[in-house]
Amino acid sequence: MSNKEVRVRFAPSPTGPLHMGGVRTALYNYLFAKKNNGKFLLRIEDTDQTRFVPGAQEYIMDALKWCAIFPDEGPGIGGNHGPYIQSERKSHYAPKAQELVDRGWAYYAFDTAEDLNQMREQAKQMKMPNWQYNSITRGAMKNSLTLPANEVEARIKNGDPFVIRFKMPRNRDIRFEDIIRGWVVVNTNNLDDKVLYKSDGMPTYHLANIVDDHEMEISHVIRGEEWLPSAPLHVLLYEAFGWECPQFAHLPLLLRPDGNGKLSKRDGDRLGFPVFPTNWTTSDGEVYSGYRENGYFSGAFINMLAFLGWNPGTQQEIFSLEELVEAFSLERVSKAGAKFDADKTKWFQQQYLRSTDNTILAKELKAKQRLSEDLDYLEKVCNVMKERATFIKDIHTEGDYFFQAPRDYDETVLKKKWKADTHQIMTNWLDIFKNIEEFNASNVEAAFKNYLIEIDKGIGAVLPAFRLLVTGKAMGPSMFEIVEILGQQESVKRMETGLNNIPA
Ligand code: GLU
Repeated sequence: MSNKEVRVRFAPSPTGPLHMGGVRTALYNYLFAKKNNGKFLLRIEDTDQTRFVPGAQEYIMDALKWCAIFPDEGPGIGGNHGPYIQSERKSHYAPKAQELVDRGWAYYAFDTAEDLNQMREQAKQMKMPNWQYNSITRGAMKNSLTLPANEVEARIKNGDPFVIRFKMPRNRDIRFEDIIRGWVVVNTNNLDDKVLYKSDGMPTYHLANIVDDHEMEISHVIRGEEWLPSAPLHVLLYEAFGWECPQFAHLPLLLRPDGNGKLSKRDGDRLGFPVFPTNWTTSDGEVYSGYRENGYFSGAFINMLAFLGWNPGTQQEIFSLEELVEAFSLERVSKAGAKFDADKTKWFQQQYLRSTDNTILAKELKAKQRLSEDLDYLEKVCNVMKERATFIKDIHTEGDYFFQAPRDYDETVLKKKWKADTHQIMTNWLDIFKNIEEFNASNVEAAFKNYLIEIDKGIGAVLPAFRLLVTGKAMGPSMFEIVEILGQQESVKRMETGLNNIPA
């Protein structure tokens, strides 16, 4: 690596919501920048006006914020290389396109959509299905290389629509070293004369991307594998301008859980997991669900994403964002596509839930589930329930008995564990239970164990009935802790009600 300042960018197009693959690209850029004391930029690439989706830019910025991936420079953030939205940089591109024409690296093309269609049709009939505007075919088209100079001038003066195309050199091997993939070599005979500047007065992605990466002094271009085929053109554009080329790193694709193809935005809701960081509602009112609204912590989501294509080379799996920064390197990113794993994602979420402080959990539980119980009480509930939950809301749904007395009693326990003598055993236990003086989990446990000895029963024969009366359930955390949290009075009341409801 040269000793130039590390400056990287995440450059989404606002054509829709950010898919989790996009968030991973942003994350790797962020981690790489922070690790190398560099800068992470956000640039909005909105030059394709036909694909612009209202709300997409706001969505992207909000999603990054949720993930705590904060850009150092970008729209609404500032920086010395702005503006950071391409449509606001329009004036930068036309002179650059012209410069390439003047230097013989690009040319005007006047072909209409019909002209191009006709060429494609003709080629198809001649059994050449993939017609391209390239170093061979350009000679038969209407452009500044084939038309006389005065006609070209007249057409431009006249306001005839034109595009500017890159004049792809014939038969050159373009080489560049990708940090993840190693040397990539592509022969220019396989590349077409891409449009750089469109008839609507806007640059295409290729031109705007290169001009901006240069002007924003980007040192490393870290982006998805789908851009690898564009990289040779980009390398040539840097050469054409006489600019230093940034280093490239093309990230592996995100694959469906079965490894069969790229993870698409439709897969998520079809396969039962979110593909987007946060909910996205289309203009037709269709909702694609997001990790945030599904109850994931952004830390767990980020941790999971970091591992889709990268690993630290150790056994450690749980990483905070700061720890990821410390551990991250592009050298440890793999070339092979990374399979998304919904169960593993839930596992990360569970680990995060377990390690979150009870005070924080209690506050979120109260707010999210709109509970009226006080925070002290909720903290105790979180403490015993979090081992059994994946999402905060599970603490409420799985531990519903902390919020209301049981309305019904688990059928299986009733069938298998409620024997002829259970009613009597529980009535006697209630008598003892009622009179426990210093009421807390360990005293209840001691009293219960004494009682078991007295009646000569095993814990497995009696505890399920106790649990059933107090919670209505077959399973849960320690019964002694549950009654301590509920309190003696409430527990007694429940046992009495239960003994009335369940016939002897
Ligand atoms: N605007 C492109 C995208 O939507 C950026 C590709 C790049 O990073 O060069 O992914």
